[in-house]
Amino acid sequence: MSTDDAQNEQPTWDLDPKFDFIDAHRLPFLDDKVSLKKIDTECSGPFEGKAHGKAFTQAANDEIRDLQYRMFTEGKQSLLVVLQAPDAAGKDGLIRKVLGQMNPQGCRTYPFKVPSSEERSHDFLWRIHKAAPAAGKVSVFNRSHYEDVLVVRVEDLVPKSVWKERYQIINDFEKLLAHRGTRILKFYLHISPHEQLERFKKRLDDPTKHWKLNAGDYAARDKWDAYREAYEDAMEKCHSKIAPWHVIPADKKWYRDASVAAIVRETLRDMDPQLPPLDADLDEIRGLYERELSEMNE
Ligand code: AMP
Ligand code: MG
Repeated sequence: MSTDDAQNEQPTWDLDPKFDFIDAHRLPFLDDKVSLKKIDTECSGPFEGKAHGKAFTQAANDEIRDLQYRMFTEGKQSLLVVLQAPDAAGKDGLIRKVLGQMNPQGCRTYPFKVPSSEERSHDFLWRIHKAAPAAGKVSVFNRSHYEDVLVVRVEDLVPKSVWKERYQIINDFEKLLAHRGTRILKFYLHISPHEQLERFKKRLDDPTKHWKLNAGDYAARDKWDAYREAYEDAMEKCHSKIAPWHVIPADKKWYRDASVAAIVRETLRDMDPQLPPLDADLDEIRGLYERELSEMNE
């Protein structure tokens, strides 16, 4: 083999490794307390490294697109992906590299920011419910109804008597969506304070990222433990078979993307959407085509 050939040779990665990503990252269904401190923020799973992980994500994205197409044409089931994370944990990157790779005809991302005065004048699920996926569709929530038991709790935006009732309301809401045929996947991107600070530095050093700079992000770092506790509570109280939480080690961007892609792919495989049955007379339509063709050739 010439040196050129050796350089051009692509490694053959295993793109369907025997590794149960759901089992590795879904919270267990036990009455145990959730302790984020005990869960690693770094992981390589079954991958030999970054290049392997990236190749896997690409292959998984292809299959996700195919399954999403089937779900869209089937028009019955739907998928809701909820993303929650501290700042700079990579929600935007994950959407760009995995979830946003789906066909936009059947998939939409909804960012939830500080509620507007109109939104605040309704119940906290009003804006959320409108964004829930219709039959055949995928919704990706970039932040979600969980902010109403996270930032709202830590920043004391409403009294405890109000937010503490919301866990049950959220469970009932998610049950309602599931009852309609919506599969729900909830992801927490788990990043270390150290890695977060590294990423804040990159934002400072890169003028194209300056728009992301926000003094509030540093204030939230001072409340890291309070946020962690609020997340742990939300996960403990709102973790169910119909709407499970997954804690994704997010210090390595490529592993974050690969593991979420794997879990979404596995879920869509399990949903097993089917192309609709033929609703026309195939022989008749073939006859019409043959006639057009022969007329064109005359
Ligand atoms: P980002 O996702 O970084 O663009 O920021 C959106 C901001 O909106 C975050 O600081 C969230 O905490 C905040 N936010 C989202 N939902 C709510 C809510 N229900 N109440 C208060 N703040 C919220
Ligand atoms: Mg932000």
